[in-house]
Amino acid sequence: MKLHFLFLSALLFASICIGQETIDTVAIEKIRNEGFNNSQVERIAFQLIDKSGPRLTNSKGFERAADYAVTQLMEWGLTNANKEPWGEFGRGWEVNKSYLAMTKPYYMPFIAVPKAWTESSNGEITGKVVFLDVKSEEDFVKYKGKLKGSIIALLPSRGNQDPTFKADAIRFTEEELKKMEAPSSNQRRYTPEQITKYRARRVLNNKLNTFLAEEGVTLILKGTNGKHGTLFTSSPRGFLKDTPVGISELEVVPEYVNLMYRLIENGVDVEIEAEVKTTFNTENLQGYNVIAEIPGTDENLKSEIVMLGGHLDSWHGATGATDNGAGCIVMMEAVRILQATGLKPRRTIRIALWGGEEQGIFGSRNYVKNHFGDSETMELKAEQEKVSAYYNIDNGTGRIRGIYLQGNDAVKPIFKQWFTSFDDVIDNTTITIRDTGGTDHLGFDAIGIPGFQFIQDPIEYRSRTHHTNMDTYERLVIDDLKQMAVIIASFVYNTAQRDEKLPREALKKAK
Ligand SMILES: [Zn+2]
Repeated sequence: MKLHFLFLSALLFASICIGQETIDTVAIEKIRNEGFNNSQVERIAFQLIDKSGPRLTNSKGFERAADYAVTQLMEWGLTNANKEPWGEFGRGWEVNKSYLAMTKPYYMPFIAVPKAWTESSNGEITGKVVFLDVKSEEDFVKYKGKLKGSIIALLPSRGNQDPTFKADAIRFTEEELKKMEAPSSNQRRYTPEQITKYRARRVLNNKLNTFLAEEGVTLILKGTNGKHGTLFTSSPRGFLKDTPVGISELEVVPEYVNLMYRLIENGVDVEIEAEVKTTFNTENLQGYNVIAEIPGTDENLKSEIVMLGGHLDSWHGATGATDNGAGCIVMMEAVRILQATGLKPRRTIRIALWGGEEQGIFGSRNYVKNHFGDSETMELKAEQEKVSAYYNIDNGTGRIRGIYLQGNDAVKPIFKQWFTSFDDVIDNTTITIRDTGGTDHLGFDAIGIPGFQFIQDPIEYRSRTHHTNMDTYERLVIDDLKQMAVIIASFVYNTAQRDEKLPREALKKAK
């Protein structure tokens, strides 16, 4: 009787059945203990961010990070760790030297970053700055024949540099999360007018670049969005092998561009000196993702897969700590936790650190196309059936506050139960039916594989960090990374252990 009682209580302790989901509380406790008490997130962060450097796709920094990740994942005992080619990306590119200062009416060093894939300047350049005022193609006429050998400047096209009365770093309030729970209000989608305007601006910019090259301009200084010494880089297409690289261009902190503008407007001549040295790599145009696995142990389920990932590439103005160093740190830490706990997942767990996200979500979309199916034709490969879910992190360093269901209502009760293990580390856990876009889960979602992105506290992601020259190690909130890694390790483990794969939505029609 006593023995029987002990056995029964051990069973009760080991797993709690809530609704239809069985949560292995012993496993979750092991994951929590490993992630909160033996965390390696700082060590991984140092390697990926400080040591690898900026990770623009196909740059040496990207390669350093990818090599580190492969070696590290193998060291933790993951199998099949490799850099898997996904197709042609385009030119690699490096900044070797970058310098900009105003020399007249007085000396002042400026914060500036070469635009990605920009050409070198013709050595050190000095000269007077001319501001261009171009709102449409008609405005080109007034500059025709007058710009040869000149340094031109362009004002920031958006944003303001007013004092900051609101904190840069924020966490979601209870009210904000409540609002998010309601079905999508499409608030983050662009209106047709905005899209038309954006396209028109892009067309004008391309024409302007061609015009300036024909006129013999030597350097472009472009004011960016941002403030307080922070600049947001643009997303040029110069990586494409046939795109002309054009004139050397520096993206400049807006306050300095505004300063030059005010001086010139008031009749004071402005001179600068600058130098940009860059190199292109046109030998290997191939793009890569880092892939590794924890093999499944259940004879019937080990051919099925649970995936987790984030993009390894960043922009080049800083070390890409929050976009998306954070996502990669968390995903690597999650698989490390699973390995360290000695848990034996039934399904195979596969981590993917993507390339080419910043230029168009290329790495993950092509991986999906190569392995699971084509979202254009909806021709699916056999492996599409085998993937239970893909979990993604790409909203910066902020802790998890819930998850976007991406329209897949049937998983709501499952996730709701899984989140109960984390009531003490999440305030106002929010599960929303809404979609979220802009990153690597989209390719999976497009061909009917449940793909999820978590709701994360914004911290300084939009105000200061993503795509900026200040996205550095300091911008990471280490405790938040630990929380994310523990929750994701648990979600991945739970997904690997379920008898069934996660419910799927009906397949979308071919385009
Ligand atoms: Zn990102």
